[in-house]
Amino acid sequence: MRDFISMKDFTKNDILEVLKVASELEGKNSTELLKNSIVGSLFFEPSTRTRLSFTSAVYRLGGQVLGFDSPDATSLKKGESLRDTIKMTEAYSDVIVMRHPKDGAARFAADVSKVPVINAGDGANEHPSQTLLDLYTIQKEFGSIENKKVAFVGDLKYGRTVHSLTKALEMFNCEFYFVAPESIQIPEYITRELDSKGIKYTLVDDYKDILKEIDVMYMTRIQKERFDSIEEYEKVAGIYIINKESILGRCKENMIILHPLPRVDEIEIDLDETKYARYFEQAANGVPTREAIFAIALDKVDVVKESMEEKDIKKSETVVCLNEKCITKVEKTENKYVVNKNHKYCYYCNKDVK
Ligand code: ASP
Ligand code: ASP
Repeated sequence: MRDFISMKDFTKNDILEVLKVASELEGKNSTELLKNSIVGSLFFEPSTRTRLSFTSAVYRLGGQVLGFDSPDATSLKKGESLRDTIKMTEAYSDVIVMRHPKDGAARFAADVSKVPVINAGDGANEHPSQTLLDLYTIQKEFGSIENKKVAFVGDLKYGRTVHSLTKALEMFNCEFYFVAPESIQIPEYITRELDSKGIKYTLVDDYKDILKEIDVMYMTRIQKERFDSIEEYEKVAGIYIINKESILGRCKENMIILHPLPRVDEIEIDLDETKYARYFEQAANGVPTREAIFAIALDKVDVVKESMEEKDIKKSETVVCLNEKCITKVEKTENKYVVNKNHKYCYYCNKDVK
């Protein structure tokens, strides 16, 4: 059994094993694999693609799904805690897929749950199943993930897909360009990690300067729902818009453009027909990748599991997470934090503690 909470929990070989299982399952009818398995699907936040592709993966493997796609119709409205919702769902299902607006909610759920938990997005923190399908797409396109130059463009502060993908790509010797205005640039807790590992990255505010250098352009939506005020959002809305004209003849011939979708206005539809656009293939790759995730979470396939270095996890009543959007602010957690060299960070949401 294995949880899928953060890309930090995976070694490079663990990732390659997931991708291998995904490619073995792709296009096959493996309806025996999850026969008699029930998936609890808890979406506390809206989702189309992620939820549908998880559901499609379950059906393709012969499993069953129960759950909700909005908290409105559930006891949460009556004030039920996440802890109780998880305790209840673990009795009704063999694995839980959860999306939640609070950073760190997935780690908390995994601590509470006896059945494996798959993080389908926790606030602005992580989105590991998206990362695995992004990696699957890159591997399919180039034959390997190694040594790529990747530009992340758009909302790098609130974009959880960027946070998870960066954590994974750093294991493949990739080099990064973070393209964003200052107010939504990549968070410091991520660059600090890159610095400590000696990984090369550059912060820029215009993609035109680096277009000729890169192999992958990872466009993202400005995450309107996560801004503290509409004024803040409006300052950066529509800041990067790419189209045929801005890309054709200005990039490497084999560059690919990815996007976790949904898009708003950052990629104009005239780009869809070009050979650079791969976001629809990427979305389709969500199904075999999520099939692999279920198969591994529930031990339905043999994979080589590597053990990670033990983290130095501590509990304290006095150390608090500095992130107001952390799950520790709304649930009764054990207040855990991690000590890494001289730095302390929240066990749940990865942000600094004090
Ligand atoms: N962000 C959501 C998701 O991942 C919304 C959507 O895709 O339409 O599914
Ligand atoms: N679907 C992705 C997510 O849920 C990206 C987005 O919503 O912009 O994070």
